[in-house]
Amino acid sequence: MTDNEYKQIKKFVLEELKQVYVPATMTLWFEEMRVVSLENNLITLSFPASKKSFVEMQYYHALKEKFSGVLGFDVEIAFITDDEEADLRLGISKIAEEEEEKEISTYKMRFSPEYTFENFVVGKSNQLAHAAALAVARHPAELNNPLYFHGPSGLGKTHLIFAIINEIRKNHPEYNILYVTGEDFTNELVRSLAEKKPMVFRDKYRNVDVLLVDDIQFIAGKMMIQEEFFHTFDTLFKLKKQIILASDCAPKDIDGLEDRLKSRFVMGLVADIQPPDLELRIAIFQRKTKDYGFELDMDVLYYLSHNITTNIRQIEGALKKLHAHNLITGEKITYSVAQNILSEFFVTEKKQENTIEKIFDYVVRRYGVKEEDIKSAKRHADIIAARHCATYIIRKTTNLSQKAIAKLFGKKDHTTVMHSLDSMEKKMLEDAVFAKEIEGVINELNKK
Ligand code: ADP
Ligand code: MG
Repeated sequence: MTDNEYKQIKKFVLEELKQVYVPATMTLWFEEMRVVSLENNLITLSFPASKKSFVEMQYYHALKEKFSGVLGFDVEIAFITDDEEADLRLGISKIAEEEEEKEISTYKMRFSPEYTFENFVVGKSNQLAHAAALAVARHPAELNNPLYFHGPSGLGKTHLIFAIINEIRKNHPEYNILYVTGEDFTNELVRSLAEKKPMVFRDKYRNVDVLLVDDIQFIAGKMMIQEEFFHTFDTLFKLKKQIILASDCAPKDIDGLEDRLKSRFVMGLVADIQPPDLELRIAIFQRKTKDYGFELDMDVLYYLSHNITTNIRQIEGALKKLHAHNLITGEKITYSVAQNILSEFFVTEKKQENTIEKIFDYVVRRYGVKEEDIKSAKRHADIIAARHCATYIIRKTTNLSQKAIAKLFGKKDHTTVMHSLDSMEKKMLEDAVFAKEIEGVINELNKK
């Protein structure tokens, strides 16, 4: 969302407030207000430090109501000072530099008309999930409660979730629908406890008609968060409200998830999404080229579909590249043009995948631990050492960003990667033999 859009929202809200407050109030308290961000139903507003507390105390409800009205869905309001805003912006631009993959922000998806059932291409690997989503969207809280999706990243879980939201909004505009990620839920709960406002949090989560939690695996291993989620779940379930969850694996495979949650998550319908087969990949390519407004011959489609095999996000990435080329040069995308544009993209991806595989093989052997443990949140000393080592070698042999590396280990936050790199470097400084060994491995991998 751009600054201009934020300004636009502010303008609308001010117009609403003007109906209620005299001009002097408007100038004194709201003129300097800035909309800093909108993320997952949370609007962050900044005010001069001298005014923030008063506005927060006096106008919180009015602001909440007006922003919710203007945006068309319920928002929570966070207040910060303009100094905090400056810090935040600095932080945001740093993260943006780090972030190579341009994942579509949650906000954008919420408002994007693209994530609908109509443009979800159905094949063998996702038909169960699609059918389940459609059934729940048409008949919320009747049959499949909770609905639980799982599957690897980039296969359409979030797309289906938003398709459900769009569909329910159409049929039941009066429904209170809340979408959050497991991480949002966690952060919000922590904040509400810190601010000693757990009731606000509870009110928000226990008064919805539909609760959708994306990447629910995030709450695993966090006792207090799971406790709260358990009660949220039970309350909504008893009230016959629809719950929809998505995760990268089946409930039984989420390490550190409490048994009582595991058993609840499978009470309704569990639908998995598998990587798309060739037929579905071709269909998706065809569908998306049409959406982009250009065409590809069958040989090009085959070339693409053979090379991109696991992830639908990559399909979109490749198509964007081709489309851009087509727009800029006007050149038709033939087989050889496509090959030229994408070969490097494919080769580096393949090479990187191989390298990462080799690194895990090495670390697994060296430390005598399991790969899945390295990628889990387990904190056994050997596992931690192996994790640090793998992180370090990956950083030195691939061009993955810290954030992308964090993702390999199931983490969203790159600070864990920074920490691993630090502690590896320290260890290598202290132990020359160890350092030599690791450098040898890195050299070997970089040769190829
Ligand atoms: P996940 O949440 O499983 O990681 P997403 O829902 O974010 O995956 O999907 C990644 C991208 O691929 C999105 O842009 C989505 O629209 C697209 N996509 C996934 N599956 C399909 C499909 N079956 N048909 C069309 N687009 C799809
Ligand atoms: Mg997702």
